[in-house]
Amino acid sequence: MKKLLILGAGTAGTMMLNKLHNILDKNEWQITIVDQHENHYYQPGFLFIPFNIYTCKDVTKPKRDFYPTGVNVINTEIDRLNLRRTEFCSRIVRLSAMIT
Ligand SMILES: Cc1cc2nc3c(=O)[nH]c(=O)nc-3n(C[C@H](O)[C@H](O)[C@H](O)COP(=O)(O)OP(=O)(O)OC[C@H]3O[C@@H](n4cnc5c(N)ncnc54)[C@H](O)[C@@H]3O)c2cc1C
Repeated sequence: MKKLLILGAGTAGTMMLNKLHNILDKNEWQITIVDQHENHYYQPGFLFIPFNIYTCKDVTKPKRDFYPTGVNVINTEIDRLNLRRTEFCSRIVRLSAMIT
């Protein structure tokens, strides 16, 4: 099984995840995405919260809503990348040789 690791589930990471999930053979590729936050915050909407037009709930969505099913999701802060050994580390996970 080939492994694809996407670091960061913001605009770019989430777009890549959805595009690659659609085109890569699921029997051949396992995709993992890593982000420090479980929620996406719609920051332009923050402006409206002090005026009681939006609430916090209006600007907060689980990032999982934007992920296709069948991908591995790791919510952790990345604190180190070792590109020579193709691994990334955080306080709670260490994934090695993810890029094949
Ligand atoms: C208030 C606001 C309004 C905007 N309006 C517009 C607009 O109208 N039109 C437009 O085109 N652009 C707009 N932008 C800009 C747009 O949001 C960014 O250009 C775009 O999100 C950048 O995408 P990205 O994937 O590079 O980064 P991001 O979307 O910021 O994604 C980075 C991701 O990486 C994660 N991450 C970062 N460091 C770590 C770490 N150490 N460990 C784990 N995870 C980590 C973060 O949690 C985040 O989810 C706006 C931005 C803001 C803040």
